[in-house]
Amino acid sequence: MKNHDPTRTVLVTGGSRGIGAAIAECYRKAGWHTLTPSRSELDLADPIQLAQQLEQYKNEKVDVLINNAAENMIAPLTHIQNEAWSRMMQTNLTAPMQLMQIFSNSMSKQGWGRIVNIGSIFSLVSRPSRLAYTTTKTGLLGMTRAAALELAPRGVLVNLVSPGYVATEMTSQNNSREEIAALVSQIPLQRLGQPEEIAELVYFLGSEKNSYITGATIPIDGGFLCQ
Ligand code: NAD
Repeated sequence: MKNHDPTRTVLVTGGSRGIGAAIAECYRKAGWHTLTPSRSELDLADPIQLAQQLEQYKNEKVDVLINNAAENMIAPLTHIQNEAWSRMMQTNLTAPMQLMQIFSNSMSKQGWGRIVNIGSIFSLVSRPSRLAYTTTKTGLLGMTRAAALELAPRGVLVNLVSPGYVATEMTSQNNSREEIAALVSQIPLQRLGQPEEIAELVYFLGSEKNSYITGATIPIDGGFLCQ
């Protein structure tokens, strides 16, 4: 295995908290130049602003892209508003594609790159009122496979990490204490995942440690999907 090249740069979206913050910390600890643009620096929900903001990154050498930021709108099919739907598609699906487009260019030129998209167990199963979220996370699975095939000849490996229920603000905002207890009782390991546990897997896939995994979807869910 090659040692880490200290000149390498990773960009993590949504690096301010939760899983994204844990991922960024993993790279920082390993000595990477770690970019964690804030929402005002890179607003994935606003297509016009995002296009302008991405211009600034065009000449930036990014070796590893972690598409982590996402929103989770909770609404049943009958209550989904067009505006909220479009926002979810833009933030969770279109923006990650645009980031892959921009940064896979420089990765391809140098013949080395890693992209890790953060999916969810909802890339593979679902739950009532998670229709929009499930649609975006399932789309990200297809996007990962298609991009992996296109980018493999250029040395760019693309994978999807699909966490189960993780102890972050997203989980506590979208579930009551009782709902979280009920979810935990359905997890074979009998607890929520910790952001640091997800981050270790993401770091493995998004570094020199990973030399032969591409196009894969890897659940990290305490055994939830085995049932
Ligand atoms: P979180 O809500 O705690 O953090 C989300 C991050 O994304 C924040 O930094 C936020 O600022 C950023 N973000 C949101 N909308 C943005 C926008 N429009 N532009 C730029 N940044 C934006 O979420 P988390 O739990 O840490 O989740 C991180 C990733 O893991 C997401 O893709 C999420 O879908 C996925 N995931 C989380 C869980 C879970 O249980 N927490 C489970 C499966 C998958």
